[in-house]
Amino acid sequence: MRKLHVKSYGCQMNVYDSHRMIDLLARDSYAEIATPDDADLIILNTCHIREKAAEKVYSELGRIRKLKREASHSGRRIIVAVAGCVAQAEGEEIMRRAPMVDMVIGPQNYHRLPALLAQVETGAKVVDTEFPIEDKFDHLAPASAPAIRARGVTAFVTVQEGCDKFCTFCVVPYTRGAEVSRPVAKIVTEVEGLAAAGVREITLIGQNVNAYHGEGENGRPAELGDLLHRLAEVPGVLRLRYTTSHPGDVDENLIAAHRDLAVLMPHLHLPVQSGSDRILAAMNRRHTRSDYLDVIARIRAARPEIAFTSDFIVGFPGETEEDFRDTLRIFDEVGYATAYSFKYSARPGTPAADRDDQVAEEIKTERLARLQDRINRRQSAFNRGCVGQSIDVLFEKPGKLPGQIVGRSPFLQPVQVMAASSLIGEIATVRITGVGSNSLFGTLHSAEVPEPASTGTGG
Ligand code: SF4
Repeated sequence: MRKLHVKSYGCQMNVYDSHRMIDLLARDSYAEIATPDDADLIILNTCHIREKAAEKVYSELGRIRKLKREASHSGRRIIVAVAGCVAQAEGEEIMRRAPMVDMVIGPQNYHRLPALLAQVETGAKVVDTEFPIEDKFDHLAPASAPAIRARGVTAFVTVQEGCDKFCTFCVVPYTRGAEVSRPVAKIVTEVEGLAAAGVREITLIGQNVNAYHGEGENGRPAELGDLLHRLAEVPGVLRLRYTTSHPGDVDENLIAAHRDLAVLMPHLHLPVQSGSDRILAAMNRRHTRSDYLDVIARIRAARPEIAFTSDFIVGFPGETEEDFRDTLRIFDEVGYATAYSFKYSARPGTPAADRDDQVAEEIKTERLARLQDRINRRQSAFNRGCVGQSIDVLFEKPGKLPGQIVGRSPFLQPVQVMAASSLIGEIATVRITGVGSNSLFGTLHSAEVPEPASTGTGG
């Protein structure tokens, strides 16, 4: 077996793609290893969302260059590939700045990895960042594949890729291309395989997942609500989630899924980015503050216990103190469980990057601190509100302490409990007794406590 190390940056889509590449290359006798030192093939699956993403990749490549040099002294060849959104955005530039790289491959082309590797093995350098019309998903996860490898109790399944929204701060439409959705039948096959292998929670992912518009099993178009209804029927699937959504693509069908499907968790990450209509328009978000609040109200009416989380960008070009206060106001008004917040940072090639009214760094820093203070207080209050409640927890893995297991609440909070590891993969009701910095602590309801294992000493 040859050894493969994949380092994945950024979002869940990249994690999913990395797993697919690992599964695909397993057919070419590549076995995954956890560190790059002994690898024959190293793939950096990069992300372009965060600041200085490309620079981080180049500094990682600097470290790998040393490894590659040392290996060549002992007659061993390491093939280095850069994949993901930085590969898509930088293309040939990567080869120019880091000539030791053998392959640059965009996110649309992973199914061509084995063929491209064969070229590299003959000494060629390969850059493949085209947007092909073939179905990438088909090649990476064919319906006829014997089994999609499960990696625990929870799994991500990509159902949609790309985005047509063109928010003015975002690189996704340029790096991932136009929206494409997988047919329902193929997703069902994949989810059935995962459930049969022990996966109990499926998170459907896509850059704009609720723009999902795949071919239904009856040949007619299916929306995300239809897909969720269908997947709720798959035996073994106990929980469904989806991320990341655009407020403008929340339709009645999706709201009905939240109302009707108990397996669809009462938690929705719905990015708003700003609370100011002026800034939302400048971001080309295609929704106003009141559109967003209306969507929140309609989902809450359908599923009153639902918890919302969101993303916020502070210091978008032209943002005034009044615009920022609108952001603080919408944060309070929605009453999120928690949120992610970032300072705006320009992404080359996006319209907002060229604006000449960029906000000074110290103002962004100060606004971010104010928003994060609110987020932290709100998250603490939300978690404290769980104390004394009985919450269903899906247990995922052993905890850090002996005898401890960790799972997730319906609202995605980690929950730590002293209980038998035989509960991993199951849902049990936990009485929440305390709150840590980022997780909850609890005890099993007595009815859920498994019988102690026999000591073998007889009765
Ligand atoms: S909807 Fe999301 S992925 Fe699409 S352009 Fe806007 S921020 Fe980017």
